Amino acid sequence: MHNCIFCKILTGEIPTLKVYEDTHAIAFLDVNPVSKGHTLVIPKTHYETLSLMPETEFLSYMATVHKVVKGLMKYTDGVNVLQNNGKDAGQLVPHVHFHIIPRRPGDGLKIGEWHVHHDPDLDKVQMVIKSLLKE
Ligand code: AMP
Ligand code: ZN
Repeated sequence: MHNCIFCKILTGEIPTLKVYEDTHAIAFLDVNPVSKGHTLVIPKTHYETLSLMPETEFLSYMATVHKVVKGLMKYTDGVNVLQNNGKDAGQLVPHVHFHIIPRRPGDGLKIGEWHVHHDPDLDKVQMVIKSLLKE
């Protein structure tokens, strides 16, 4: 058993406000919501990052993410879907999760605010990433 907060939510060891469950994933409210209705969707099997998930499990997990997005799009007219992989990307809980964040007009949330990084090496970057995707 992993010493993992989200695995403990799955076993019921840590209480949570569950909003949806199916055979391979659950959705529950984030304890520190950035907006009303901020929901997390997690796979029932522990994987630290998306890159470690087998494709078939990823695809069934994505079906649940899609279901929750559709539900929350009836709650508000817009949602952001975010997913962090690795500490460098801001991942705090090392169990795969998608954030579904309901948005409202004028809510002022600064999600996805980024500053353009002018890259003189775009061609080289293309070559490196292309070759990594061939592996
Ligand atoms: P991340 O930075 O993507 O790893 O986000 C982790 C998220 O998990 C944060 O938004 C936390 O508020 C949330 N979180 C941590 N512990 C719990 C918990 N016990 N129940 C619900 N959400 C949690
Ligand atoms: Zn876990």
